[in-house]
Parts: sequence; C-alpha cells; structure tokens
Amino acid sequence: MKFSENIQNIVFQHISEIVTRQNQPAYVIGGFVRDLILGRASKDVDIVVEGSGIALAKEVARRIDPKIKVSFFKSYGTAMFRYKDKEYEFVGARKESYNRDSRNPEVEDGSVEDDQLRRDFTINALALSLAEPDFGELMDPFNGYADLKRGIIRTPRDPKVTFSDDPLRMLRAIRFAAQLNFHIDEQAYDAIVANVERLEIISKERINEELHKIMLAPKPSIGFKLLAKTGILTYIFPELAAMQGVDKREGMAHKDNLFHSLKVLDNIARLTDDLWLRWAALLHDIGKPPTKRFVEGHGWTFHGHEYRGAKMIPGIFRRMKLPLNQKMKYVQKMVSLHMRPIVLVEDEVTDSAVRRLLFEAGNEIEDLMTLCEADITSKNHEKVQRYLQNYQIVRQKLQEVEEKDRIRNFQPPITGEIIMQAFGVGPSKIIGDIKQAIKNAILDGKISNNFDEAWAFMEQYAADYGLKLLKSKGDVIADEDQAKSEDDR
Ligand code: ATP
Ligand code: MG
Repeated sequence: MKFSENIQNIVFQHISEIVTRQNQPAYVIGGFVRDLILGRASKDVDIVVEGSGIALAKEVARRIDPKIKVSFFKSYGTAMFRYKDKEYEFVGARKESYNRDSRNPEVEDGSVEDDQLRRDFTINALALSLAEPDFGELMDPFNGYADLKRGIIRTPRDPKVTFSDDPLRMLRAIRFAAQLNFHIDEQAYDAIVANVERLEIISKERINEELHKIMLAPKPSIGFKLLAKTGILTYIFPELAAMQGVDKREGMAHKDNLFHSLKVLDNIARLTDDLWLRWAALLHDIGKPPTKRFVEGHGWTFHGHEYRGAKMIPGIFRRMKLPLNQKMKYVQKMVSLHMRPIVLVEDEVTDSAVRRLLFEAGNEIEDLMTLCEADITSKNHEKVQRYLQNYQIVRQKLQEVEEKDRIRNFQPPITGEIIMQAFGVGPSKIIGDIKQAIKNAILDGKISNNFDEAWAFMEQYAADYGLKLLKSKGDVIADEDQAKSEDDR
C-alpha cells in the first residue's frame, strides 16, 4: 500500500533525495503515520534512518533553509527541528533491551525492523518508506494497518514483556483506547491487569501526562472505566476508586458515584475543552464516600460532601503532584460551590442569596453553571429538560442581579486601610469585623454598593464598639486621592 500522496512536502522530499542517493533506508514512523491513516492532524513527525539521525537532520535543514535551528542530543543520537507548523525528530534506528528497575532501556544500533519491534503498539509501529523507488510504501510487519481499521490496540511483542519493560505503556494503551475509541486486545488487557504494580517505576508527572490526555479525550469515561476495571485506578487514584459501588439498605440504594461522575465528565467534555473544568467535573462528588450515611426510614445522605470534597483536593493534588496553584484553587471552588445554584431556583429566593453566590463564584460563575448543567445525568428525557429549564431560571436571576448590582468582581468600597485611618486604630480584629459587616450589608442589600452608604453604615456599626471617627469623610477621601496620585507617579 502506498501513501506517497499524503507525504508531499519539502521536508519529506529532501529526506527522500538524500537517503535515495546514499542508499540508506529511512522512514517516517509511529504516531504520525497512525494519525495520517486515521485522518487526524498531528504536529510531531518522527523519522528513523539506518545510520545517523543527527547527520540527516542537519543536511535536510541546511538544504531547506540554513537559518533553521537544529537541536540535537548526542548521547541519544536524536536531532530535531521545527519547520512550518511541525516538529521533525530524527533518530538512528535502534534496538533496545531493558532491565527491571527502569523504563529507560540500553540501546544499540539496529535495523528499521528492530525499531518497529520496540514500539508499544502495532498501530504505532507503522512506517512509510522515504527512499525511492518505495517512497510512501507502508511497512507493516505486525498488521498494524488491520488493527487500525478494526480499532484494536495490540502489542507487537508478548504484552507481558512490553508492559513490564515500560509500564507507562499500560497508561498509553488506555489513553489511546479513550482518544480513538479503540478496544484493547484481550491478551494485552490481561497483561495490564497482571502488571499494575509495575507502575511504581513511573514518575507521577508521566502518569499525569497520560491522565490529562484521557481527561481531554472526546469521551473520557472510556479511559477511566478501563483504569477502574484493570485496577490501575485503585493504585494511582484511590479516592476516585472509592466512589465505585452501590450500597443497599431497607430496599434503598444510592447511585454509583464513580459512574455518575464519569457521566458528568463526559457531559462536560461536550461543552468545554478546559482541562481544569473537566477535573472539577470528575471530582465534584469526591467527598461523597467519606460523608455517606444511612438515615433510617429516609435513605442515603451525603451531607456536606461538597465542602468535604473541596477539603480533600489539596491532599490529592499534593500526592499526585498536580499543580498546587490557582488551578487547584479553581477546582476547589467549583467543587465547594456545585450545590449552590440549584437552590436559587425556588420562587422565594432573595436577591441576597443570588448576590452571595455571584460574589463567591466571581468570574467563575459561568463555569459553575456549566458544571451544574453537566451534573444532570438522569436517563429520563423530560426530567433532563425540566432541570435544564430550572438552570435557565437561575441564569436569568444571576443576570438580573448582576446587571443591577455588579457583584461579580465586587470589592467593598471601603478598605481596611480606610477604616484604620477613619478611627485611628491599627490592624486588629475590630477592623476585620467592620470590613466584614460592610461587605455583608452590601451583599444582603441593606445598603447599596457605594462609598457614601458604606461610610454611613460603618460609622453607625463602629459606634457599637465605642469607636468614634477621628477623621471626616472629606479628609479621608482627600488623603486617599493624594496616596493614589503618589502611587501613580
Ligand atoms: P501523541 O503524540 O498523540 O501523544 P504518539 O503515539 O505519537 O501519541 P509520541 O510520544 O509522540 O506518542 O511517540 C511517538 C511514537 O514513539 C509512538 O507512536 C510510538 O511508536 C513510539 N513510542 C512512544 N512512547 C513509547 C513507549 N513508551 N514505548 C514504545 N514506543 C513508544
Ligand atoms: Mg506523537
């Protein structure tokens, strides 16, 4: 089978001319070929050549444009350059042998067949020849083409050896199953189950890279169900694995929280590519197992699971080496607020409750609503429509209140600094109390969100503490203006 039409660009042409003249076998191989046959776009192109990859890369780059920067790693024998929107990586064909405590093999020069044999899956071992007269010819020693057409993930060698040598491949298998909606061949699947504990030699960062690719797949549940079934989930993410299962008492069962969460994740995957919003969907009910109770005559409850869940997140992120920064805070916020919007659907809900949610969610209010809508997993179409309608009502209320009161990015009009100046008091608990009271008065609608009303409120509130104004409103404003103009200079 020939794919010469699909590899018509200046880089492939130069490689072809060079290696044809030098009578040197060279191929484009791996993910690029797989994706080309599947019609998926790919940005990285791997070239293997029998001989020096570095020398070939330099020669190709020199011919195209001497200004192209070729980076290379002598010790690995690899070279790379970027051209147009793609990255081309060149490497000499090689043979590998592994030892037990590392996924980094010993390598020696080899043939292209050796190089294909060291690949993880048959669908990743496809190569297209670049030397004439075979330009574009498919080299497929393990029937990877057929596997690609049938949607099968299979290893070129005995899968027990493949996975034990480099356990990261188990996660790659599951990741490809999720990304491509492929099926893992039975022997390979059994070998994964048998090798779960080999994952101990894989760094958390590598594991996360694959987890994130699963999260970003069109239907992430495919990957997570495989992680759960193979036992990998218990190993890498016990809190999530603990969500699986159903308890029944007095004839009352609760839903399986893992499968519910995965449904929510699939739902949100249709609405957003934002990795961290997808994480929030996966973790929104993570606090359910530790808060689960059975109440006689009533049924199962998960009181406070949203707060417990938010509290669990730093521990999970730390152990898994996920980022402990704003991303984590964002996920925590989504998890802790996910039960809030639905309450606002009630008719008698006050503006105050709406303002408080707007204030707490801030700019993330849209994401929160997306999460809530994804959280509807009923199989009953009418119910789904009714719930969506309810969230429409909530959105409307949020919009009305926001337009009126501008709460989303609300900063109380009176700062702690101003309060200290006004009463001539240093930093103290009282100052914090007054500040909080002003904020609450605004959110509760007792006063409007402006300086004058806040000032009047402050004066009265502070009087209860026996505090008297030392400076007039006019003086404080003048001092503030002065300080601001000094800052600007
Ligand atoms: P993607 O680029 O979508 O992550 P890919 O399969 O192209 O997927 P790369 O990391 O770009 O993955 O690797 C390119 C090729 O190198 C693969 O197609 C495969 O042939 C080979 N490869 C990558 N990782 C491994 C591994 N752990 N074991 C064996 N072969 C691998
Ligand atoms: Mg790739």
